[in-house]
Amino acid sequence: MAVEPALSALTPGAFSGTVLRSDFAVFDRPTRSGKRLVFLDAAASAPKPRTVVDTMADAYSHHYANVHRGIYELSEDATGLFEAARGKVAAFIGAPSKREIVFVRNATEAINLVAYSWGRANVHSGDRVVTTQLEHHANIVPWQQLTAEVGATLDYVAITDDGRLELDDLREKLGNGPKLLAVAAVSNALGTINPLAEIVKMAHEAGALVLVDAAQAAPHMPIDVAALDCDFLALSGHKMLGPSGIGALWGRRELLDAMPPFMTGGSMITKVTMEGAEWNEVPHKFEAGTPAIVEAIGLGAAIDYLTNLGMDAVREHERYLFERAWPALGEIPGVRRFGPNDAETHAGVISFVLDGIHPHDVATVFDSEGVAVRAGHHCAQPVMLRYDIPATTRASFYVYNDLDDIDALTSAVRATQTLFAG
Ligand code: PLP
Repeated sequence: MAVEPALSALTPGAFSGTVLRSDFAVFDRPTRSGKRLVFLDAAASAPKPRTVVDTMADAYSHHYANVHRGIYELSEDATGLFEAARGKVAAFIGAPSKREIVFVRNATEAINLVAYSWGRANVHSGDRVVTTQLEHHANIVPWQQLTAEVGATLDYVAITDDGRLELDDLREKLGNGPKLLAVAAVSNALGTINPLAEIVKMAHEAGALVLVDAAQAAPHMPIDVAALDCDFLALSGHKMLGPSGIGALWGRRELLDAMPPFMTGGSMITKVTMEGAEWNEVPHKFEAGTPAIVEAIGLGAAIDYLTNLGMDAVREHERYLFERAWPALGEIPGVRRFGPNDAETHAGVISFVLDGIHPHDVATVFDSEGVAVRAGHHCAQPVMLRYDIPATTRASFYVYNDLDDIDALTSAVRATQTLFAG
């Protein structure tokens, strides 16, 4: 039988979400329902603190020019801010060098970059790649495309009834000698925190490289690529309080150096003749064209904000909310929750269904209560397949959420059940 966390064992959150709400202008806006906005959809995209918006407005107003090219003050100024943002990303994930940080649009592009560049150069007919049934489509489809194109095989690690990776199955799949394991640090559909250190060790012992999809982990918990010992890591700025249109790929320097470019054009070359071109060094080799300059600077401001809170404290705060929300939902008859039952291995993402009510209807009623949640397959259809459901309703927490939001969540569940019972 599932064991609920003991309420008496809970400690207060590391900081109060109530205080942080005022850092986010979106909470000033009235809702259609006239109720307090309870935002529980950070896993899709997070609101932006004022400091990110202000930093970007200032960059556009006073520091904007194209980067890396201009021999004049404004361009040097913009380049300095842009490159400082790269350094902030590197420090945030424990990368040994900021040259290992490639700016991309989002985690999807980061994974595609590896699948196209490293994948097409290293995965050949008869080879294997391993991913898992727990992944977001962004960490499945690029590998499906790669393996289909080169005649390789894609294996999927199975998931348990409570939403964990089957480690025995992983061991078996790794036993076939794959070139790469592509795995999420945290599942966006179930909230599962994977035991990454153990997984990376197992993969390396089997001779596979490891790409970590950190789209749901980087915003919510400390990440240290050096300690983790992975080979590639992908993240999206918009999920970690930064703007959309900017994300990062981290890769080991020697891997990035050996990889061919993904896109070609300006900035990524050192020399172009009519016969051919020579590539710039990393990370510029992978940054063709004018980058998302102000978005990168905005991501830097988001990282400053998170670093100021402390990523241990962010994780602690979300664990505190999870430890209340999970049993509170479990106490309501007709609620089926998905994912691990313990706060150690479950991030601030709770997927659930209400008996007899479609998740889209649930989200619609929630909206009328001022509660913003996501309903659907969460771009993780293989997960839905595993539990034989079309969709779930998903509540995801972040730094601005507080206990009132958890009360609003459970009240919205009861209101929905009452409405559909009537
Ligand atoms: N990986 C995971 C685990 C995600 O949750 C998401 C987005 O929800 C992605 C990848 C893709 O992120 P993006 O759409 O920012 O590229």
